[in-house]
Amino acid sequence: MTKTGSRKLPLWGAILLFAPVLTVLYYVTGHVAGSAAVATQVLYSASSVGAVAGLVFGAFRYRGGRRRPWLLLAAGQGAMLAGDLVYYVLGLRAGEVPYPGPPDVCYLTGYLGLVAGLITLVRRRTPEWDLPSLIDAAVVAVAAALLGWVYVIEPMAAGAGGAAQAVTVAYPVMDLVLLALGVRLMLGAGTRPPAFWLLMIWLLGMLVGDTTYSVQALLGSYDGTFVDGVWICGVLCLAAAGTHPSMAEVDEPSPAAAPDATKSRLVVLGAASLVAPVVLAVQYLRGASLHVPEVDVACIVLFLLVVARMAGLVRVQRAMAITDGLTGLRTRRYLNEVLGTEAERRHRTGTPFAFLLVDVDHFKRVNDTYGHHAGDRVLVEVARRMREVVRSGDVIARYGGEEFAVLLPGVTPRRLEKVSHAIHRGVSTAPFALGDGRLIPVTVSIGGACMPRDTDAVEELTRIADQALYAAKSAGRDQVVLAG
Ligand code: GH3
Ligand code: MG
Ligand code: MG
Repeated sequence: MTKTGSRKLPLWGAILLFAPVLTVLYYVTGHVAGSAAVATQVLYSASSVGAVAGLVFGAFRYRGGRRRPWLLLAAGQGAMLAGDLVYYVLGLRAGEVPYPGPPDVCYLTGYLGLVAGLITLVRRRTPEWDLPSLIDAAVVAVAAALLGWVYVIEPMAAGAGGAAQAVTVAYPVMDLVLLALGVRLMLGAGTRPPAFWLLMIWLLGMLVGDTTYSVQALLGSYDGTFVDGVWICGVLCLAAAGTHPSMAEVDEPSPAAAPDATKSRLVVLGAASLVAPVVLAVQYLRGASLHVPEVDVACIVLFLLVVARMAGLVRVQRAMAITDGLTGLRTRRYLNEVLGTEAERRHRTGTPFAFLLVDVDHFKRVNDTYGHHAGDRVLVEVARRMREVVRSGDVIARYGGEEFAVLLPGVTPRRLEKVSHAIHRGVSTAPFALGDGRLIPVTVSIGGACMPRDTDAVEELTRIADQALYAAKSAGRDQVVLAG
């Protein structure tokens, strides 16, 4: 390898520039020497050789210990190359290549390598289970599968039988799997460096080439070479992806944040959802077979996927509405909901419950002395300490800036005495770490009230607890005052 530093044009750039040159050379040679000539075959296979070499080069040059996805892609493309060569040699020797035969074994093995490589990339980019992106990709894949089935796969498989039919179906099915993985990569979270886009262009080229080939073969208009140029350029994009230094970033993990319903995403999903009814209408207008069972299944699956996606979005929105962003505690809105249901239950079954307000003492001083960021840390730590003390059925909410509320279902006045002091001790005893090594003392004041002992109305309950808190502050802070 020459040193990239001494050259202005990077290797991946040279490969991309070489793609049209190789394509033209291939067509000219094919025209002059014939498509079966050794030179033509060598030029055609040069793209695959370049891709395998590029991927292996990049895997060792830029990847360190994380080579697997790229080596899997290299192995997959290597098997494709082997398939081309076997096909060529068999064609020279026997004239007619058996179908299905040894080349098909190579090609289908190659697909497995490519699929495995892409799956590895998907899993590494989003180690958490990114369900929303998966559903979105499934919507597109189902739509593509219906189109592929009605217009390509079924007509292609119609004449054949047995192994030939199975292999004929296997190719477009593998293309569909690659398409689904490509869509999943596009719709999911993760970085998109140049190497990522080169990968996507390779996939697109391969899928466009394969589909064009299939349609041409069906129509009987395949002239032998048109799609070869698309394949050559696509595979050289794979070579460029392998040699681009940014390939090291393609599998960087990123949190699987629920993707927003952006306009472009909605357009893609909307269009995909319309495919099934449109296919039905087109077939009807053409007077062709309606494919009712297939369209039916596609509609059902698409509807269910859309409902699942909506349920996920609603769940995320709901979780955001009831969770405080800083402390992870419940919001005041959620607490008010629970207060309502608890009061109702209390009227029905007589179960008592208690309500506490917890306010950080002189919190303004913490902010003023140590900064707002330190103040935030203290609030997060107060929340953590409170969570450790209460029981699992209790609800802790961030009630205001530095004020928290605790709802304790089933707690009698006597037990409240214990619980409120336990919370006070649990929060106030140990000093708080500010993260820079400094420790500061922070205390809280607590006011509490019970239902039904102190009142039987929810609004009264919070007001009485607030009065008790005020009393605790007035009495010198860092203490518990319970009403009654
Ligand atoms: P007291 O003992 O009487 O409760 O005094 P205090 O200083 O705690 O009470 P005060 O209500 O005067 O001040 C509360 C402060 O809390 C003022 C506000 O800037 C701060 N605060 C409110 N929300 C946040 C927050 O999310 N982060 C930080 N760092 N500070 C907050
Ligand atoms: Mg305060
Ligand atoms: Mg306050």
